[in-house]
Amino acid sequence: MIGSMKRFCYRCGALEAEHGPLIGGLCQRCFAEENRLLQAPAELEVTICGRCGAHLIGKRWHEAGEGDATANAVRAIVLSSLKVARLTDAGMKFLRPHEVPELELRVEPKLAKGVIEVWANGKVHELQVKPQLEEARIKFTLKRSTCDVCGLRSARHYEAILQVRGKLTREECSEIRKMLEQLAAEAGKRDRSAFIANVEERREGLDLYVNPVSLARQMVSMLKSGFGAEIKESAKLVGQTRDGRRKFRFSILARLPSERG
Ligand SMILES: [Zn+2]
Ligand SMILES: [Zn+2]
Repeated sequence: MIGSMKRFCYRCGALEAEHGPLIGGLCQRCFAEENRLLQAPAELEVTICGRCGAHLIGKRWHEAGEGDATANAVRAIVLSSLKVARLTDAGMKFLRPHEVPELELRVEPKLAKGVIEVWANGKVHELQVKPQLEEARIKFTLKRSTCDVCGLRSARHYEAILQVRGKLTREECSEIRKMLEQLAAEAGKRDRSAFIANVEERREGLDLYVNPVSLARQMVSMLKSGFGAEIKESAKLVGQTRDGRRKFRFSILARLPSERG
């Protein structure tokens, strides 16, 4: 009879009628055996900043976040190293875990054992009747280092000196200082390398040592709009960066008018 031809798995011979839809000629079980869901490395190196708990992924440092810095770092580095197989009409793709919405993923660092256990539950192909559950064990070694920002901070590195001048009372001086420090703290949340390396309160005003120069310029525009400060900026060539760009140190003078409203 036409149409009654029985389709079966080319690998094990299982009948489609009994074992569910074939995928690329394979039965459900053989498909899952031949197409692993999870790709995980056997070993990982986890690098953490001993000062602030930031962790390194590739060449970039990432903020520690809330809670246990080591466990967070391990989890983030594992997530960045995992790939999840996805087969569509367009072929096989290996996606990042967050790109697969219906994926269930558990990452459990066993810090004392130096092992991370990973479970993934999901489908490689949408014709799969059940998601496939897979497990991986990743060995990891922990390395302490100093992150880029802590390195700069401990060296008291700065790109710009912002000098705030004007006839300022002590109260005005500390009010302005507070404002600028708050601005720096906000900027630091968006950009780890934005910070004030040092502040000196002087008789003639405030000196702030600031990274990077763009933060100093934000401060300046605040002083301009809030206090009507007059700005003078100059730059001095101080050398070269490791990748050969010219390196400048900026001096910015913000002079506040004596009559302020
Ligand atoms: Zn089969
Ligand atoms: Zn650090």
